[in-house]
Amino acid sequence: MNKSNNNNKLEQTVRDGAFGPKEIKKGEKNRYLGEFEERIIAYLNYNQVMDKAVYPEINEVLSLPEAEKLIIRGDIPKNKSKKYIEMAQKNDVRFIRKSSPEFRGEVALAVAGKNTVNTKKGKIIDREEKLQKRGLSDNIIKNAGAVLCKSCWQELMKKAPEEKINYRKAGILDRLSGTGCIGCRK
Ligand SMILES: [Zn+2]
Repeated sequence: MNKSNNNNKLEQTVRDGAFGPKEIKKGEKNRYLGEFEERIIAYLNYNQVMDKAVYPEINEVLSLPEAEKLIIRGDIPKNKSKKYIEMAQKNDVRFIRKSSPEFRGEVALAVAGKNTVNTKKGKIIDREEKLQKRGLSDNIIKNAGAVLCKSCWQELMKKAPEEKINYRKAGILDRLSGTGCIGCRK
């Protein structure tokens, strides 16, 4: 066998040993907005962040003592990141926007800890899927932002109380102005 080939092989093995794991970690970090996967508490993908509804699950994990920062991918428009930034501020968690041409994968917004975290929720389930499973009516699910009548509001409170941040309960003024309840529409 050719000796120099052998040496090259050995050299390659040594190099893999020295840099292999580092490269793997780099790839991992590029999938989690520059963080190690073990530090990620929960995340949303692009479509979830762009949804007209806000994910209350993010507020929930931001309130955990181990939540250290909210990371938002640079391509997320400000009007979509605003509500999440407010959640972070209310929970005394700092937020950062991060961009890199090396970022890969679906993570668009993530809550991370300083070190390895105990709570690892990974990707938050799509709200539509979650709410359908809970038996909430499609009219309510699909109309985040809507003003709901008393009975629809009660349905929401019973099946998904955390979603109240995405709706408004009809008040006297709404009834006077004749606002129809979209949740009741057939
Ligand atoms: Zn209604």
